[in-house]
Amino acid sequence: MNIYIDNHKFHYEIENLTKAFLPNEKLSVIPFEGVLLQPYIFTSYRDEIKVSVNANGFEKTLTKEIVKGQDDELEMATLLYDILSEMQSVNLPWGLLTGVRPIKLFHKLVSQYGEEGAISYFENELKVSKEKTALALSCEKAQRDILSLSKPNSFSLYISIPFCPTRCNYCSFVSQSVEKAKHLVKDYLRLLCEEIKETAKIAKELSLDLQSVYIGGGTPTTLSAEQLKILLDTVNENFDVSDCEFTVEAGRPDTVTKEKLACLKDCGVTRISINPQTLNDSVLEAIGRRHTTKQTLKAYSLAKEMGFENINMDLIAGLTTDTLESFKDTVDKVIKLSPQSITVHTLAIKRSANINDESLCIDKSSANVTKTMLDYAQKALYDNGYVPYYLYRQSKMVGNLENVGWAREGFFSPYNVFIMDEVHTILGCGAGAVTKLKNPYSNHIERIFNFKYPYEYNDRYNELLTRKEKIKEFYSNILITNKGE
Ligand code: SF4
Repeated sequence: MNIYIDNHKFHYEIENLTKAFLPNEKLSVIPFEGVLLQPYIFTSYRDEIKVSVNANGFEKTLTKEIVKGQDDELEMATLLYDILSEMQSVNLPWGLLTGVRPIKLFHKLVSQYGEEGAISYFENELKVSKEKTALALSCEKAQRDILSLSKPNSFSLYISIPFCPTRCNYCSFVSQSVEKAKHLVKDYLRLLCEEIKETAKIAKELSLDLQSVYIGGGTPTTLSAEQLKILLDTVNENFDVSDCEFTVEAGRPDTVTKEKLACLKDCGVTRISINPQTLNDSVLEAIGRRHTTKQTLKAYSLAKEMGFENINMDLIAGLTTDTLESFKDTVDKVIKLSPQSITVHTLAIKRSANINDESLCIDKSSANVTKTMLDYAQKALYDNGYVPYYLYRQSKMVGNLENVGWAREGFFSPYNVFIMDEVHTILGCGAGAVTKLKNPYSNHIERIFNFKYPYEYNDRYNELLTRKEKIKEFYSNILITNKGE
């Protein structure tokens, strides 16, 4: 499909919205030079806003007057939405919203127009379904108390362990299977501990106040108990974690042992995540997880025996070979285990994943089944006392749906809320980690990227330390600006 752009800068939004309707279509975004080649979407901003679609026998044009004060990008996107919705005979659950953080936007709308105004804007201007608007409202309400904990000098710490026992076929992270990358782990851990110390020095110098710690990746529990101890001791010796939520992902049940759990507990970890994704062994095999349901159940009961009182479990709707019945069974069994939080993801297929036969996953019928899966999970979770408290979306999600964190009251994870709402700085350590510097007095965010892969991280660690100097620059500029004001 050719997308012609005539005299405007809205190509990013136009392309993303088209992708949401036509996920399997190859799109070429081209400046308009007088010729239209079918199939095409023509978007023009001249004496009026105009969108025409001509594809596979379907033809339609809509126009809109340019009026002072209106959001012209939104107007053009609305015309495109109306045409593609008619052409495909579908409405998108999140309407015109293509961004990853709908709750952040909803929150902003609530503070501007109140709850009713935000609901009306979502439903009428952005064409978000009533159901998803209600979900956004529930998440936004659940987050309010947590967001008020964040102060101008607050920050959270993210540490990346980019190793896993094997690589899942849908994985789009930089994580490497430890079978292939074992030789890198020792040096990686040594340098990571160095980086944690350097980061702590900077945070102290700037009088930043730690709010939450999250060790993810990858699967941190791919490390041995001894290696985990070295890592966690380094965090404890360099940061005051006494009042913080301290999460470690123990995502792959096949990496969980009594020794490792004991180490996490002794080192003050308050929240862990054990992720079944599905409790169907044949699906686990199909997605390359190489662990069994039995291992998941064992890891979970071991964690409970060891005294963990805040456990999250991740599930994925839309996995290759999974069926509605099997997904429902997984949801029911996981709820029966009664973890404090359950995160329900929708499968997203990124280019970097091992599976790339997208037609397998993103056709209309898969989208409908996945939607039914999420509807089932939502009802079951509400019925069992879980509340949705954070939500995000990714591109290339089956059915344009969402990932939702559900938790029992009192177990909403502050880190998840902080990172999704981008309320304060996240200092990142390790390969693939991103430091996000948030100006507490504006919406301005700057990013410092660490090297993506562990081998690059090990080889070029010193360059990374130089990049970290930007943290001080960022905060000194904020101080200067605010003194100036
Ligand atoms: S456990 Fe997570 S990070 Fe590791 S390979 Fe699977 S999806 Fe990727």
